[in-house]
Amino acid sequence: MIDMKGVHKTYSNGVTALNGVDVHIDSGEFVYLVGPSGAGKSTFVKMIFRGEKPSTGIVKVDNKDLSTYKERQIPKVRRKIGVVYQDFKLLPKLTIYENVAFALEVIEETPKVIRDRVMEVLDLVGIKDKARSFPDELSGGEQQRVAIARAIANNPKVVIADEPTGNLDPETSWGIMKVLEDVNNKGTTIIMATHSKEIVNTIKKRVIAIENGRIVRDEAGGDYGYEI
Ligand code: ADP
Ligand code: ADP
Repeated sequence: MIDMKGVHKTYSNGVTALNGVDVHIDSGEFVYLVGPSGAGKSTFVKMIFRGEKPSTGIVKVDNKDLSTYKERQIPKVRRKIGVVYQDFKLLPKLTIYENVAFALEVIEETPKVIRDRVMEVLDLVGIKDKARSFPDELSGGEQQRVAIARAIANNPKVVIADEPTGNLDPETSWGIMKVLEDVNNKGTTIIMATHSKEIVNTIKKRVIAIENGRIVRDEAGGDYGYEI
C-alpha cells in the first residue's frame, strides 16, 4: 500500500527531516510510528498524503508514484487517505453531522450518499446521537471520534493518525484505539504516530522507530522502546 525508496527531505531552512527512508507497508497493516520529538515522524506521514514533497526518493501509495501527480491532481491522492490529528481540527461553526458531510461534499458525492454515509460512520465510531451537536459541546474523546468518522467517510485505503490520543486522558485513549482497531479490521491500513508507551506496549502492532530522519527499528509486535 505504501512504498518509500531512498526518501530524503530537507526543508527550505536547511533542516534534514528524513535522511534515507526505505519502507514497505502492506494493505491492511496497523503500524505505530515512534521516536523522539523532531525525529521526522510528521514529515514521514506528510510524504504519504503529499503534505510535503520528498527532496529525493520515491513515495508510492497504492502502487502509484506520487511524483507522477500534478499539483492539481493532489486531491486525488488525498481521497485515498484520511488524516486524524492530535487536536481534532473540526470546524467549530458546523455541527457534527455537517463536519462529516463536508468531507463528502468536497468530493461531490450525491446528497443521498452523503446522508447515508454520514450516519453510517457516526454510528461506527459510536457517536450518532451527537449528530446535531457542535464540536465545543463534545468531550475531547467524542471530538476525536468525529474526526475519525470524517477521516473514514470516503472509504480511504489508508488512515494516518498523528498522535490521535495526545490530548486525551488514558481511559478515553483506549476507546479511541478501539475505534481505530475497528477501522483497521475493516481492511483500512493505519499508520499512527504516537508517544504513548502504554498503548504501544499493550495493543501490539508493527512498530517503526524513527531517529534523526532514519528508520532505526522495524519490528512486528514491537515495544515502544523509549522511557517517555
Ligand atoms: P516529529 O514529528 O518526529 O516531531 P518532524 O517531522 O515534525 O518530527 O520534524 C523533523 C525535523 O524537521 C525537526 O527538526 C523539525 O523542526 C523540522 N521541520 C519539520 N517541519 C518543518 C518545516 N515545515 N520547515 C522546516 N523544518 C521543519
Ligand atoms: P509535531 O511535533 O506535533 O509533529 P510540530 O510542532 O513539529 O508538530 O510542527 C507543527 C507544524 O509546524 C508542522 O506543520 C511542521 O511541519 C511545522 N514545523 C515544525 N518545525 C518547523 C520549523 N523548524 N520551521 C517551520 N515549520 C516547522
